[in-house]
Amino acid sequence: MTPKARQARARALAQAAKASGDLIREVSQTVRLKRIGRAYNGLCPLHPDKNPSLWVYPDGHWHCYGCPPGHNHGSILDWRMAVYHETLTEAAQAILHHYGPPPEYVRPVVTDEDPDPDDAALTRWHTTYQAAWAHLTVAEADQTALRQRGLTEPSLWALHGLKTMPSLRTGWAARLGLSMAHIPGFSTSQDGTWHGPAGLLIPIRLPDGRQIGAQIRVHHATTGKYVWWSTPPDAQTETGQPRYPEGAKAWIMAHWAWPGGMIDSAEEVIITEGPLKAILIAEFTGMPTIGVPGVNLWATALKVLHRLDQPPQRVLWAWDQDQPVKPAVHQTLQAGQDALRQAFPAIQQAVITWDGHQAKGFDDALLCQVPWQVQPIQKGDAHGVFE
Ligand SMILES: [Zn+2]
Repeated sequence: MTPKARQARARALAQAAKASGDLIREVSQTVRLKRIGRAYNGLCPLHPDKNPSLWVYPDGHWHCYGCPPGHNHGSILDWRMAVYHETLTEAAQAILHHYGPPPEYVRPVVTDEDPDPDDAALTRWHTTYQAAWAHLTVAEADQTALRQRGLTEPSLWALHGLKTMPSLRTGWAARLGLSMAHIPGFSTSQDGTWHGPAGLLIPIRLPDGRQIGAQIRVHHATTGKYVWWSTPPDAQTETGQPRYPEGAKAWIMAHWAWPGGMIDSAEEVIITEGPLKAILIAEFTGMPTIGVPGVNLWATALKVLHRLDQPPQRVLWAWDQDQPVKPAVHQTLQAGQDALRQAFPAIQQAVITWDGHQAKGFDDALLCQVPWQVQPIQKGDAHGVFE
């Protein structure tokens, strides 16, 4: 690698790390933080501190009022460099390794017995989402975050329908006169109004282009970075699991990330985890990509393939190169490959691999220009995960 290329890669890594890292969680590794208003306060580990002089702000920067100027504030990267004496690249790699992307999902509750809704219902959901979408815009902060993740053209969020969930806590849809009755995601237990956090809205689409759900990438996440619009938790159980309002359970589907909707014949289709990741991968590779809601929900990808006019000739699995991979996850991925082989015997399968130390997700690998390979898989192969 030339020095210039190395610099560009370090910059891209740092940007990705800044976009995905959670400073409050990071500082909490070494400092007991107390929430005061919207900020957090604690004893600074960088100087002898008796009265808490370290502040962490929700916009992702920290400031110590006891440390010497020039070494007393910065981003999550500056924090790791100061506390752990890491280089910029080491700090960025550590953050990407710990926080993704991809982020952790709030797992939707779904079972195989859930029947597919009838076609009229799907159209009704789509129409309602379209009406809501027409009232939404993309906030400046989300535009910046998307640019940092590699979406450079302004048309991209228009093409993919990315929007911002406004910070109005309740009832904004009702105030706009949108009827949300019986649409998954609008808590029917509470006057049909939506109670949810502000964040980036990511549509969930069928191959024919109809929008049937949405995820929210929460702006100021305290637990999961993602929640479902289509099954909003209204509370948490004692164990911290999201609890869903009665009757609001939605039909969970993988996202077909292709701006044009249906295509006549896709020779190759990528399957990955998460709708936003699918959008990024589709943009970077120019290939239609299916984003399943979680690795354990690969069956939703099969449902999408069944909805295509013609199945693809080849499916490329692009799972995160996590390390170490848990045996249970390994088995899950294997089960997905076996199920695909059973449902579509003619489809060839392959996995996309890269150095998991350099990038966790395929979108990061593409963003940071980490070299990747396509490896065909046969029955019984256990490829596709970071070894
Ligand atoms: Zn200090």
